Amino acid sequence: MKTTTATRRQFLQAATAGAAAAVVPGWKKAYGQPGPALRIEEPVHGAVLNRRHGQTVDGSLKIRVSGEAPVRDAVTVNGAPAQRAGTSFGAELMLRRKETEIVALAQGSFGRQEHRIRVLWDQHSQPRYRFSIDDNSFFLRDITQKKYASLFDCFYLKGLRELHSKYGARFVLNIYYTTDDGFELPQFPDRYQGEWRDNADWLRLAFHAHANLPDRPYQYAAPAKLIADLDQVAEQILRFAGEQTYTPPTVIHWGMVQPPALKPLYQRGVRVLSGFFTQSNGIWDVNYLLDDTRSEYLSRHDALMDFDSGIVFSKVDIVCNNVSVDKIVPTLEPLTKDPNQAEIMDLFTHEQYFWPFYVNYRPDHFQRLDTALRWATENGYKPVFYHEGFLGGPV
Ligand SMILES: [Zn+2]
Repeated sequence: MKTTTATRRQFLQAATAGAAAAVVPGWKKAYGQPGPALRIEEPVHGAVLNRRHGQTVDGSLKIRVSGEAPVRDAVTVNGAPAQRAGTSFGAELMLRRKETEIVALAQGSFGRQEHRIRVLWDQHSQPRYRFSIDDNSFFLRDITQKKYASLFDCFYLKGLRELHSKYGARFVLNIYYTTDDGFELPQFPDRYQGEWRDNADWLRLAFHAHANLPDRPYQYAAPAKLIADLDQVAEQILRFAGEQTYTPPTVIHWGMVQPPALKPLYQRGVRVLSGFFTQSNGIWDVNYLLDDTRSEYLSRHDALMDFDSGIVFSKVDIVCNNVSVDKIVPTLEPLTKDPNQAEIMDLFTHEQYFWPFYVNYRPDHFQRLDTALRWATENGYKPVFYHEGFLGGPV
């Protein structure tokens, strides 16, 4: 037994010494490393900030800037020393104008690092909603075929007008050039111009795609193709409805375009593009092919600016044709509790589901819209058009 004990003690001593020997070189190695690169984590480049993201002080917005930097470096944010705790840093910053560049500087034994980002302050922001309806074509064909005395003899526009009367709701209808069964926009008469004009304060038309099919028509299309299709539809809207009713698109069919299409879209007046920014099977989709980081950010924020193109991306908050009447409020209500999603409600649906001949007809579709619009109205959200002001808000 004694021998065994001695041997065990010797073994333990050897093992402890060995463990220490293994740890020390590793520890020394860690000591010699520069640590994390300097990075501003909050806010992110392109963030759209409003009073919910800070404190309004003397006409400025006081926000907190935070991030990571090498542990021993001195860090400044826009010239002011940041507080350090381990590898993190934090500083307060006053936003005084619409666009602010935030510059973090880290200086230490490994040299100097800099991280610059830009953020937007939505200074005059107010709770607001916009209502966008995609995939429109059937109502235009219906009016052309039935030769109604009024646009609002078409039950679809009549229903939308009722919602406008009830809630002051505004709608943008994103339209196709053709229904692919012989109807094309040039057939739509221009004799309703007076009605379009009289209702342009709440009813607008925008390009969406050439046709419903194929799916994802612009995901891999050359930007020139997208712009040509846009121009073709825009020309028709201007012909039959007039300038006051035309708006640049805010949703492209399937929410997918090639990245080089963004600048040409901006040149056509596009300032906002709405998408779903959802993940399926590990792939971000209906996200205008934005990178994963920005798609993930948009999945839980109202908006994000893409400074390269000048376009702000907006997260759609509800697709009414997919949400039953009793689920509408439970879908929207939680968003009001999240400062990142509470300010702007991007409400959305598709035209097809209003029509009894459509395979996925929703008989309660208008009731769904009514429920969403009543909720938005009762909760103080104001109806806006995204192409006006900044995301529909005053600038
Ligand atoms: Zn669509």
